[in-house]
Amino acid sequence: MTGRRRWLPAFLVAAFLFLLLLASSPVVHAFRLVNRTPQQASHTRGTRSAGSNRGACGASLARGASRASGASDTRGTRSAGSTRGAQLQRTRLQMAINTAAAGCPLDTDVLITGVGPAGVALAADLERRGIDYLLVEKASSPREGGTAIGFWTNAWRCLESLGVAEGVRKSYWQGERLRIGTAKGKELTSFSLESCDGGPHEFRYVMRSDLLRQLLQVVPKQRVAYNKALLGFREDKDEGVVVAELSGGQTIRCKALVGADGVGSTVHKLLSPGQKPANYAGYQAIRGVAKLPKGSSTPPFYTFEKGVVNQVWGAGVRLGTFRMSETSLYWFVTYNGPQNEAGRDDDGAALLQKARSVLAGWDARWGIDAILNATPAQDVLRTSIGDRWPKPLGNWGQGRVTLLGDAAHPMTPNLGQGGAAGMEDALVLGGRLAAALGKGEVGARVPQALRAYEKERGRRITYLTLKSFAFGFLLQLPFAPVTFVRDNLALPLVFKPRSFLSHTKFEAPDAPPPLQSKEAKKKTGMFSFL
Ligand SMILES: Cc1cc2nc3c(=O)[nH]c(=O)nc-3n(C[C@H](O)[C@H](O)[C@H](O)COP(=O)(O)OP(=O)(O)OC[C@H]3O[C@@H](n4cnc5c(N)ncnc54)[C@H](O)[C@@H]3O)c2cc1C
Repeated sequence: MTGRRRWLPAFLVAAFLFLLLLASSPVVHAFRLVNRTPQQASHTRGTRSAGSNRGACGASLARGASRASGASDTRGTRSAGSTRGAQLQRTRLQMAINTAAAGCPLDTDVLITGVGPAGVALAADLERRGIDYLLVEKASSPREGGTAIGFWTNAWRCLESLGVAEGVRKSYWQGERLRIGTAKGKELTSFSLESCDGGPHEFRYVMRSDLLRQLLQVVPKQRVAYNKALLGFREDKDEGVVVAELSGGQTIRCKALVGADGVGSTVHKLLSPGQKPANYAGYQAIRGVAKLPKGSSTPPFYTFEKGVVNQVWGAGVRLGTFRMSETSLYWFVTYNGPQNEAGRDDDGAALLQKARSVLAGWDARWGIDAILNATPAQDVLRTSIGDRWPKPLGNWGQGRVTLLGDAAHPMTPNLGQGGAAGMEDALVLGGRLAAALGKGEVGARVPQALRAYEKERGRRITYLTLKSFAFGFLLQLPFAPVTFVRDNLALPLVFKPRSFLSHTKFEAPDAPPPLQSKEAKKKTGMFSFL
C-alpha cells in the first residue's frame, strides 16, 4: 500500500465520526428546530400523540433531568472559565444526543417569545446558568429606531449581573442631579441623586437599540430565531410539555413557555381572553432624541446641562429632558388627550409640530425650540400611556406558561421603571427555572417554579405600577389652580430627596457571576464542543 492509500480509510473514518458529532451538536440542533418544515413538525406531533410513545417521551424528560443536573453541576465550577466552558459543551452535546435517541424530542427546555429588554435579559440569564432555551421574535431583527430608555440603579444592577453593564454605560453620561421646574421657568426643587437614601445611585439614558445589541452579545446567535411569531400554544399535562405554534406552521415543544412579547402580548391574550392589554391612563407621550453638535457642552439652556435630569411641569402637560452624551439629548412631552388620537398624525414632522404646540409659551430657558429643531423627525414616536394593574400575588401565568416584562405588567412610564422591572423579572425567573430544571424530576417542578416567580414579583410590580400611576395622575393635573397646590404643597411632601429613589433598590437573588461576552463567544464557537 502506498502512504496515500494507507491514510485514506483512516481519513474516511475520521470524517464520518466528525460528521456524526456535528450532526448531533447543539448548533445543528437549534438550526434544525427553527428551520423545521411543517411536515416535520406534524410528524413529531403525530409520534408524540400515539399512546405507546408516551413512555419514550417520559424517558426523554427523565434524561433531560439528568442532563440539566449536569448543567447544575457545571454551575458550581463556573469560576474556572475554560473547564466550565468545556463541561457545558459536553453537557449540551449529551443533551442533543439524548434528545435524538428518545425518538420523541423535546425541542428546548425554555421557549421565550420576544426580543425586547425582558426576553433578551432572560435569555442572557439562562445562558450563564447553563439552561437550554430558544428565543423567537416575530420581527426580522431587534427593533432599531431612535428611542432611548432611562435606567436607574436597579436596571444597572441587572445589567451588571448579566455582564453587560460596562458595555452599555460607556457611551452615556451619568445623571447627578434632579431639577423640577415650572413652565414659567421657576425652579421648584433641585437635589443631587446622592442625597437620596439607598445610594450609590446610577442613572443614564441609553439607546434601546444599543441595549439590545449589548445584551445579545452574550446570547449565542443560534439561540435566536427572527421572523418567528408565536401564534398559539397548548399544554400537554400528561407529557409535561407545552407545544408552541409558530408562524410558518412550525411547532416547538418545551418544558416552559415564557411570553416576553410586550404590551400587546399574544401569550397574555391566550391566557386571559377578553382582558385588555392595558387601560388608557388619559395621556399621550411624544419622545425623541435631539442631535447636538460637538462642543455644545455648556449651552445657554437649563435643559442642555450635563448630569441634570429635568422635569418641567405645566397644567396637563409635562416636559422631561436629559443630556445623554455630548451629542445627544433625550426628551419627552406628555399631554392629556383621547386615546384614539394616537395614530392619526403619527409621522415625525407632525409629532414635532404637536410637541411645539403643547409647549407653546413655555419659558425660553428650557430651550424647547433648540431641542425640537435638533431632533430628526424619523426618530420621533408617540405612545398612548396605559397600564394593567396586576394581582398582588402575581398569578399571571398558568401551568407551564408565564409572562415577563410588559406582557405581564405594562405600567405607566412616570417612574422610568417598565424596562427595568422586566429585567428584574428575568433574573428572578432565571433563578427559579434553573432550580426547577437543574435537579430532580424536571417535569413536575416547572409549574411550581413559575408560580413562585409570579408570587415573588407580584408585590413589587404592584407597588411600582401603582406608584407610577399615582405620579402620573398628580403630574397630569390639568387645571392651573390645582397645579398651584400641587407645586407648592404636594411637591415638598412627595418629592423628598430621601424617599425619591426608594423604589430603585434591587439585588438579583442567587445570581451566578456574570458571563462576559468574550467568554460567551469563545464558549459557543462553532466547533468548540469538540
Ligand atoms: C413613553 C415611554 C417611556 C418609557 N421610559 C422608560 C424608562 O425611562 N425606563 C424604563 O425602564 N422603561 C421605560 N419605558 C417602558 C419600557 O419601554 C418597556 O417597559 C420595555 O420596553 C418593555 O420591554 P419588553 O421586553 O417587556 O417588551 P417589548 O420591548 O415591547 O418587546 C417585545 C418584543 O416581542 C415581540 N413580539 C410581539 N409579539 C410577538 C409574538 N407573537 N411572537 C414573537 N415575538 C413577538 C415584539 O416584536 C418585540 O420585539 C417607557 C415606556 C414608554 C411608553
